[in-house]
Amino acid sequence: MTIATVRNLRRASQVIFFVIFFWLILKTNFSVNFNPADPNEIRLPYPVSIALEFDPLTALGTLLANGTIYKGLLWSLVILIPTIFIGRFFCGWVCPLGTLNHWISEIPSERMKRKGKQKIDSNRYKKYQRIKYYILFIFLAAALMGTLQVGLLDPLPLLARSIGTVVLPVIHTSADGITGWVKSIGIPPLSAAAQFLYDLIAPLLLTFRKMHFHTILTIGSLFIAIIVLNRIFSRFWCRGICPLGAMLGVFSRFAIFGLEKKESACNHCNECLLHCQGADNPDIGSVWRQSECHLCLNCQGVCPTQALSFRFFPSQEVSKSNPAGTAKIDISRRKVVASLAGGAALYPLFRSGDTFAANASPYLIRPPGSVSENDFLARCIRCGQCMRVCPNNALHPTFMESGLEGIWSPLLIARIGYCEPSCTLCGQVCPTGAILELTLKDKVGDKETPPNRIGTAFIDRGRCLPWAMARPCIVCEEWCPTSPKSIYLREETVYNSRGETVTVKQPYVDPEHCTGCGACEYACPVEDKAAIYITSVGESRSSENQMLLKKKNDIPQYNLRGKI
Ligand code: SF4
Ligand code: SF4
Ligand code: SF4
Repeated sequence: MTIATVRNLRRASQVIFFVIFFWLILKTNFSVNFNPADPNEIRLPYPVSIALEFDPLTALGTLLANGTIYKGLLWSLVILIPTIFIGRFFCGWVCPLGTLNHWISEIPSERMKRKGKQKIDSNRYKKYQRIKYYILFIFLAAALMGTLQVGLLDPLPLLARSIGTVVLPVIHTSADGITGWVKSIGIPPLSAAAQFLYDLIAPLLLTFRKMHFHTILTIGSLFIAIIVLNRIFSRFWCRGICPLGAMLGVFSRFAIFGLEKKESACNHCNECLLHCQGADNPDIGSVWRQSECHLCLNCQGVCPTQALSFRFFPSQEVSKSNPAGTAKIDISRRKVVASLAGGAALYPLFRSGDTFAANASPYLIRPPGSVSENDFLARCIRCGQCMRVCPNNALHPTFMESGLEGIWSPLLIARIGYCEPSCTLCGQVCPTGAILELTLKDKVGDKETPPNRIGTAFIDRGRCLPWAMARPCIVCEEWCPTSPKSIYLREETVYNSRGETVTVKQPYVDPEHCTGCGACEYACPVEDKAAIYITSVGESRSSENQMLLKKKNDIPQYNLRGKI
């Protein structure tokens, strides 16, 4: 097989993996009704989080943070084991964020053409490329202490979160806005064309309900910064920041597949440097940096004199001007120790703040099936899959609701959407077991088993229409989905503002039955701040965050399915 064919295969592989990743995120979406004949049928047809399960950094991070590997994370060995032998093939051939960075870096521009020699220099190894290893050590030490932060910068959860909570909702809003604007001009053929285009993209890209997400500006800003920096340094993110790239770099350090350089054939045209993706010094005269190489094979492909070739057990013509071997990873022992210490210090730093104290965040409502908060923060990689799949748009990335430690982990905002009783989708898509996959019986309970509770509803009598304003309203009682209802009504005769007596039905909450689903808060007709709201007290995942005395059996225990 010629090198041109191999490079074409690499390009095809990048396109295929990128499309699969994007398609899986599009399919993290449930669009049928919630009343099938068998409610257990509420399942997604595809394993939409499988791409995240191949992530070696997620597997290692969760293993360090909680001593278990969840479900499909063993798939990550499919990436890790070949890396030990052939190097960072994942970065050059598979990683969807790497591919996006590659494409954006390669968009031709006048500025790029003008850069000429500068571009060659910018593709030489730079000191900033060490940063990613220190980031990796910080994350691993923090994980070992029990706080999992890898998902903030791990490319797979980062891209899933950015596409799911920023890119796709922005596309939806833009499509709605543009179509509405074109129709408002009032020219029938234009309106028809706009509608035609809208109908064309809707089944592919748009969800049946337009999603809005909390704090997307912070997620979007990081994503835009990653994309834009590619225009200054090719694949800046991959070379300098990516902790997964760093981990694969460490594993590829002694790979037996590598670059062979023939000094006698080289004419020093520097074409190899001009096209190098990893900035790993493929040129003759520099020591090759195997841990930085993405195996894009561009250097071999563009070399006009075949001075460079990739092979197993590469041998080298050694001379003063062509040093042999591969360079060690360029990190100082002192800085590694400092990174590990810094990472370890994150845990007491996070946990000493008030945000982690029990009940400090009453509005931190986690999805149904979530494990205890300690364990949750040792599992959640902030991939946003649960938020994307939630059909009611109830789950959102946190900003500071669970402190800096839990930034971008899921939070239920009932005012935007409530938890559908017959839905267990968030547990189905969570790749790390932060949200357990509940059965319908686990979720709603039965005579013997208590339901899964995420909180309890409280009535704000100062805002409630029948309580404070002598107006009739029973919306919360009507919306409450539990059986028996967790909201009961008492008829009371009260005086209105004109001094007349009126009979209203005043709502009360029964905390024994309330699951905290938030349907009442969602539906409350008092706009802005609802007159009924949920807080986390009573949540099944915590034995402390309770207000009623509980018998042991009142707190349900679930199996961590798929735990190894
Ligand atoms: S360095 Fe990171 S983002 Fe870049 S390709 Fe490798 S794993 Fe993906
Ligand atoms: S809880 Fe949500 S954001 Fe966290 S890992 Fe699970 S699916 Fe991803
Ligand atoms: S949160 Fe409201 S709607 Fe849901 S179970 Fe409790 S009272 Fe009923």
